[in-house]
Amino acid sequence: MNVASPRWIHNLRSMLLASVATSLACMVSLALKTMDDEISPIWLVEAVLLAQMMVARPQQRYGVLAAGVLGNFATRLFVGSSLGVSLSYSFADFVGVVSAAGFAPHISTAAELIRPKPLMRFLVGCVLFSTIASGLVAVTLLGEQDAGSRLPTTTTWFVSHALGCAIFTPTAVAFWSGELAKLSRTDQRGKNGVLLLLVCVVTTGVFGQNQFHLLYWALPPIALLAFQAELAAVLLGLLLCLAIAMWFTMHGLGPFWIEPFGSTQGRIFGLQLYYMAALAIALPISASQAQRNRLIARLRDGERRYQVLAENATDIVVSMRLDGRLTYVSPRVTPVLGYAPRDLLGVYYPELVLLDDHAALATAIASLTGGVTEASQDSRFRRPDDQVLWMKTSLRLIIDPFSGKPEALMATVRDITESKVVEQRLAVERRELQALVFRDGLTGVFNRRHFDHELERQWRKEARAVSPSHMAVIMIDIDAFKDYNDHYGHPGGDECLRTIAQAIASAARHPTDVVARYGGEEFALILRDADQQGALRVAERIRATVENLRLPHPASRTRIVTISAGVAAQRPGDGGDGSGLVAAADRALYTAKQQGRNRTCPSEIGFADQAAS
Ligand code: GH3
Ligand code: MG
Ligand code: MG
Repeated sequence: MNVASPRWIHNLRSMLLASVATSLACMVSLALKTMDDEISPIWLVEAVLLAQMMVARPQQRYGVLAAGVLGNFATRLFVGSSLGVSLSYSFADFVGVVSAAGFAPHISTAAELIRPKPLMRFLVGCVLFSTIASGLVAVTLLGEQDAGSRLPTTTTWFVSHALGCAIFTPTAVAFWSGELAKLSRTDQRGKNGVLLLLVCVVTTGVFGQNQFHLLYWALPPIALLAFQAELAAVLLGLLLCLAIAMWFTMHGLGPFWIEPFGSTQGRIFGLQLYYMAALAIALPISASQAQRNRLIARLRDGERRYQVLAENATDIVVSMRLDGRLTYVSPRVTPVLGYAPRDLLGVYYPELVLLDDHAALATAIASLTGGVTEASQDSRFRRPDDQVLWMKTSLRLIIDPFSGKPEALMATVRDITESKVVEQRLAVERRELQALVFRDGLTGVFNRRHFDHELERQWRKEARAVSPSHMAVIMIDIDAFKDYNDHYGHPGGDECLRTIAQAIASAARHPTDVVARYGGEEFALILRDADQQGALRVAERIRATVENLRLPHPASRTRIVTISAGVAAQRPGDGGDGSGLVAAADRALYTAKQQGRNRTCPSEIGFADQAAS
């Protein structure tokens, strides 16, 4: 058994509707004729059929076209036209509809038709071009028929078809697309009903009498309707207005009978022009209202989305004016910073941060108005409970899309306290580690690496100076330390090393003096601005300090721990290098040992001169 598909039924329904609608349109158009044999003042068939084809699915269009053309042809035969005349008119209409359908914009609602591009295409292609084409075909074909005395001219055909197409296509599109039917179901139907009633009452008042010339008073309710109602209601109102005006005009009433028109034909033409003017007023209003409504809907949608994002984000979202005064603060500010959003409105944003961080944040905000589009700044905020939080403010400049000028600032504010604490601890550890690299682990004074580096650096610096001053090195060695170790053991020796290091460091009083453990039980000092005599005094002071400690050393000749020191001083500008100075001090130390220990010796006389030569 063959089950009929719903699409098949749907297609058949469309075709039936097309033939019924074109038949009706044809009959109404013919009924508008005021004289026999003349052409109808306004031809509706093309508008009705074209509109149905525009909104039909592509595969339905040919069926609709065929059914419509047949309906038109059958009606003409039915009202008494000859076969030849009926065929000629129907064929001309067919040409008109086919070419108009070719030009027609791809739309599915009347609202889409009244946008600038589709409307232009419709007016030029469908209203102008296709009606001229069908007019030429009609005049050519009917010229060969015995169709009575009043054959159409291209002009009368064009006027009646172009007006019919221009006026009725948008309304017919609203009908076929279902927009008209939807009117009875919208929330606005009460308001629409009142406005439509107003249009009908005013139109009746204007056209139902011959006393006063009130023609233009029919326009205000139409304009009001266009401002207040959706397009389908506007088109319906215009149609009702036209029907009422036409009925009265054809029955000898209305402003067109006051005007100096010679014939009913002329009056109807005047009415058509008037109606075009009404359309020209109502449709642009309707179109701009629709555009405005779309914009508002988009704006609301965007605002809603932004609101949802701002209120659910883990960061605080703020907007501020270009001068940094807050205009919006998301509710997240309450759990994070302890403020109520409304209390912050109008507040200068940098005022929320600690005084020390105020200037940097204010500068970041100012940089955005000075050409930068993004900036970020870490600042400390104090909560009302006195807790201080580190927050990162990521600022962005908002440009007005219409003027292209900076409009406002937006920022996300993130709590970075935890990472900031970690960062600070790491920085401290890094500094400590760096310090350790240059320190001797046992005694805490600088190590040999630092001593060499500093000596080299200070030597170079002094050598470049305009008037270099002396630099001195003191080399120190503990006397008979092997025996000390032998007596007290290695840990005891280590303890003694620590004590001696402290004594040396305390005796070298100048802040620029560098005290280092040079090796085993040897220490070295760099003294700036010290000549041989000055350095010798420092070495002697150190020696005396150690001696005065009176650390027991039973294995030593003196019974206490003593040190020997060698001193060398030179002006870096006189040549040589730091290692030469160390070698000279070391030789002086050797001399001190040879001379009996617990003494300080200067480097050999003329060392500086030797180095210079
Ligand atoms: P002198 O008076 O000629 O200097 O005799 P000295 O015994 O001190 O001889 P020297 O300077 O050659 O002796 C170095 C000794 O220092 C060798 C070693 O036992 C001791 N020493 C070197 N480094 C350390 C250390 O880190 N800890 C300890 N406890 N002893 C060290
Ligand atoms: Mg030694
Ligand atoms: Mg020694």
